Amino acid sequence: MSAIPWQHGRRVPGVTAETWAYWESGADGELRIQYCGVCSVWQHPPGPVCRRCHGSVELAPRAVSGEGRIVSWTRNDQPWYPGQPVPFRVGYVELVEQPGLFIFAGLSGLDDAADPMYRRVRAGFQRQGAAWLPVFSACDERAAS
Ligand SMILES: [Zn+2]
Repeated sequence: MSAIPWQHGRRVPGVTAETWAYWESGADGELRIQYCGVCSVWQHPPGPVCRRCHGSVELAPRAVSGEGRIVSWTRNDQPWYPGQPVPFRVGYVELVEQPGLFIFAGLSGLDDAADPMYRRVRAGFQRQGAAWLPVFSACDERAAS
């Protein structure tokens, strides 16, 4: 297997009152996603108001399993900034907690010769300054689509 590693030195995004838990929660190995206690829906990216019920009082980050499946991906052979190692993959992962709960993140350790679509993955983290960037790696055989 020729696995493409994830070595991404991207700039750390601005951390806000809504996003700090997403970017910093990897410090303890947990992926945290904003959850609405009014309508019991996860939402990502996080925001000041629930996009489903428009309630804002009950929004808070909660730990998720970090497991999901790849639903879209791309392989990049051109660096996004000078000196970035290539190739690398990024993609959308649909978390198991809720249909349509997508995370856009780096993908690591996948067989370069195989199509990773619907591959089961689990979140890990790459520290980048104060942020812990979610990076998903294969955790099982191909999931049913
Ligand atoms: Zn809600």
